[in-house]
Amino acid sequence: MYWKKYSRQKIRDVVFEAIGKNLNYRDSPPIGLPASYLDPKVFYSDAPFLSEAPFMSTMVANPNHIGCHTMGDSEPVFSGTQAIERELIEICATQIFGAESDAVDGYVASGGTEANIQAFWVLRNYFIQELGAAHDEIAMVYSSDAHYSMPKGVNLLNIKSIVAQVDEETRLIDLIKLKESLTQAKASGVKYFIVVMNMSTTMFGSVDDMEGAIDLFHSMSLNFKIHVDGAYGGFIYPFSAKDVLYSFQNEHVFSFSLDAHKMLLSPYGTGIVLIRKGYIDYAMTQEANYVKGKDYTLIGSRSGANAVAIWMILRAYGSEGWTAKIAELLDRTDWLCEQLSKRGIVYFRHPKMNIVTMKPDMIDKALAEKYFLVPDDHDSPAWWKIVVMDHVTEGVLDHFLLDLDKSITNA
Ligand SMILES: *Cc1c(COP(=O)(O)O)cnc(C)c1O
Repeated sequence: MYWKKYSRQKIRDVVFEAIGKNLNYRDSPPIGLPASYLDPKVFYSDAPFLSEAPFMSTMVANPNHIGCHTMGDSEPVFSGTQAIERELIEICATQIFGAESDAVDGYVASGGTEANIQAFWVLRNYFIQELGAAHDEIAMVYSSDAHYSMPKGVNLLNIKSIVAQVDEETRLIDLIKLKESLTQAKASGVKYFIVVMNMSTTMFGSVDDMEGAIDLFHSMSLNFKIHVDGAYGGFIYPFSAKDVLYSFQNEHVFSFSLDAHKMLLSPYGTGIVLIRKGYIDYAMTQEANYVKGKDYTLIGSRSGANAVAIWMILRAYGSEGWTAKIAELLDRTDWLCEQLSKRGIVYFRHPKMNIVTMKPDMIDKALAEKYFLVPDDHDSPAWWKIVVMDHVTEGVLDHFLLDLDKSITNA
């Protein structure tokens, strides 16, 4: 894994050069394209700070990245910032997820939800168009700890779902029970499976057992493709674990979703979807005639500034800087776990992730509320989680532990 770290100056230069290659609405006003600069009364383009603010400048320049820019034709008037998006997708595909160069298509989606649904949409249409599948012959398989965008996708795409139960302690899918469900599904006519593997669940930071799942589907001779939900862990797990199964080196992995607006601390609207080349055509909307190069995405119009924001963060750290940052967060998580163990608090934690999810017995509700701990269920919490991010410093955790000690003594 390697991509170069850029200086502030270099980042600024690259982004301003890209904006310069796009159509400038002020110099050459387009009269057909329904695009323009932002309202000049509210977002004035001569604000003095803009010359040192590449992201804000891209916002004000307002490029529309409608469509997919890793394949086919694209709207030429935004070619400058589209090239930044292409580089971003290539870094994620090749350096984070081990793809060969130019072997993956993708785009910056509104978030992990859209990225997941885009991948499911492509896969569902592939099964229908290439293998003649009927809707009720396709099922999505995901664990009971998976994000709610899976049932959302199942509902929108009108396919079946199989929810795999997990072990209460290890949070791993119970493969024996899953085998029973698959046998039943097969008997009821399901022939094609979209298998979701969590490269970290949102609540536990658990990572699904990819090898166990692949072995099971093979042993039953089922037709399946794997989508990896990396919305939470996509910018963590590949940096803390060397796991080739969770990469494009694994032939069963069809697609990934990532969210830069979680761990990467980029603005909302920065999901990423990556799909093996040759498949995104299954999501092409033939009727998107006014879009140059058609539209292969779920979203339609989207801001080019979002791609620029993610690219800037990745370039500001470089692969080495980001790996070091994740290592530091995991060190702090290790330390927190030691402190909790000393106090007899029971928790789940994947060793390569920065989430600690605690059993509620010794956690006072007022304490949980004071520190904004997140429950698995707001009505009846069975778990409370802590996410060790940048702002969750040892100082903050110290305060939490002191309050925890007080509440334990008072109990
Ligand atoms: C947050 C999350 C999503 C959804 O992402 P949004 O950006 O909120 O749409 C999907 N999967 C996982 C594992 C997540 O943590």
